[in-house]
Amino acid sequence: KAKTNGGDQAVFFSSEMNDVLQDQIRLDRMLKIAIEEREIEIYFQPQISPSTNSLAGLEALARWNHSTEGYISPGKFIPIAESSGQIVALGTLVLDLACQQAAKWNEENFDFKHISVNVSPIQLWQPNFIDVLKNSLNRYNISGENIIIEITESVFVDHCEHRIAKVLAAIRAVGVKVSLDDFGSGYSSLGYLNRLPFDQLKIDRSFVTDIDKDQRKQQVLQGVLGLGNGLGFNIVVEGTETYEEVFVVKGMGCHAIQGFYFARPSHAARIPNMVREITRKKPEITALSA
Ligand code: C2E
Ligand code: MG
Ligand code: MG
Ligand code: MG
Repeated sequence: KAKTNGGDQAVFFSSEMNDVLQDQIRLDRMLKIAIEEREIEIYFQPQISPSTNSLAGLEALARWNHSTEGYISPGKFIPIAESSGQIVALGTLVLDLACQQAAKWNEENFDFKHISVNVSPIQLWQPNFIDVLKNSLNRYNISGENIIIEITESVFVDHCEHRIAKVLAAIRAVGVKVSLDDFGSGYSSLGYLNRLPFDQLKIDRSFVTDIDKDQRKQQVLQGVLGLGNGLGFNIVVEGTETYEEVFVVKGMGCHAIQGFYFARPSHAARIPNMVREITRKKPEITALSA
């Protein structure tokens, strides 16, 4: 039933839509507090080099465990933060936490290779984004090589190539590499690959799911990897969940594989041991395909 007592606008919303909106507004308010109180954490997911069975890097993923609501997934709170604009504060916090952890691991001599940080297009277009990036690097006294910025394909939707090229160049000028996330999931034109200075491609999970059972899917991934390798990108394949998927992907040629088969995203404190386990426990991948 339409709500009629809330002013003129309200009559256009069904009560179900209104409930959804109310819920989003409530969550957004909770998120504001969580950011201010630094209740948002980051977890890390290992990326494994298939040729050497060693660590290639880690992706930082935002985690929100609310005291009364429990775990709230990024799939839920990131879009809300993007529509309210809080993604800028959230992204700034995540970047800062990643740099802090990088400094800590450097000090402990844990060779994490790099930490990849997801940056929303909305944050990327802030005029002070490069300053925010530099501030976090400087605060913890780390060099740009410790960090990779991941940008999703959706960045192409409403921005011109020239502007994207400029911001990519500014990021790389700080020594930070740039990765194109969720590649192949929908938006990017292949032409961009040739013209924009991305360092890394992350192949979307949709290319990988059940790949061991699908010949045509194997052809598609082989083609995408051929193109990416031919153009000189570092390539990460995302979302490998099973031994069979890893086995097929490994045979195709990429620099790293990231997925639940190797490890779920985990708390920083668990990462060094987890990485030791993975690189010790999964040698059969290397052995079988040799
Ligand atoms: P993404 O950047 O593509 O990150 C990979 C997502 O896939 C993560 O989900 C990860 O947990 C999940 N994943 C990794 N391996 C597997 C697998 O084998 N199977 C399956 N089914 N999933 C796998 P998560 O952590 O829930 O994050 C979802 C998305 O939310 C991310 O996708 C990213 O777009 C966004 N996100 C997460 N943290 C941040 C952040 O700090 N800032 C921004 N702007 N976005 C973030
Ligand atoms: Mg990502
Ligand atoms: Mg991705
Ligand atoms: Mg994604």
